[in-house]
Amino acid sequence: MNKKERATFIAITLEKLFPDPPIPLTHEDPFTLLIAVLLSAQSTDARVNLCTPTLFAKAKTPEAMSQLDLDEIAAIIRPVGLYMTKSRAISRLSHDIVTKHKGLVPQSFAALEALPGVGHKTASVVMSQAFGHPAFPVDTHIHRCAKRWGLSNGKNVVQTEKDLKRLFPRNIWNKIHIQMIYFARQYCPARGHNAEACPICSHLVKKAHQK
Ligand code: SF4
Repeated sequence: MNKKERATFIAITLEKLFPDPPIPLTHEDPFTLLIAVLLSAQSTDARVNLCTPTLFAKAKTPEAMSQLDLDEIAAIIRPVGLYMTKSRAISRLSHDIVTKHKGLVPQSFAALEALPGVGHKTASVVMSQAFGHPAFPVDTHIHRCAKRWGLSNGKNVVQTEKDLKRLFPRNIWNKIHIQMIYFARQYCPARGHNAEACPICSHLVKKAHQK
């Protein structure tokens, strides 16, 4: 199978396994999704989902969040890790959304990436999952799978995003990136995997992922 054929097979298999994948991070609107994605950096969605109900009960709009004390934010989000850095980013980006964007999360990559603590991956998740704009946020799970499936060389996430965008049709990017995350968590952990029981690799060229 060439890369394009592998990608097609993978898309069909993921659609069978995860026909209707929910967005992993609990949120109510673009702002709460933005905060949840920011919190998920170097943490887990499960840990973030445990903290955000308390945080959003205190403040779920940029106005309200910008008025919370840093210490108050930090105390709530402490379990997700990097809590001082993330608290400062949450406070500053909320302030920026109020003062520069009339209290609304901006709907462009450039404006999102200009917000404190927001990088390309976070902006991609928000553009995709909150606004429905085609995007392919590459997290560690997707980066790993793309390399193991021989769809990208795994050099860096920028290259992986380019390769995946070329191989998968634009109209499925928003769904397939979530399907890949669920697949990676369930079948394709960073260490230890069962290739024989795997619904994807058992059909693909094996040598690319004997590492
Ligand atoms: S065989 Fe292993 S590396 Fe390949 S997709 Fe399945 S779990 Fe991942």
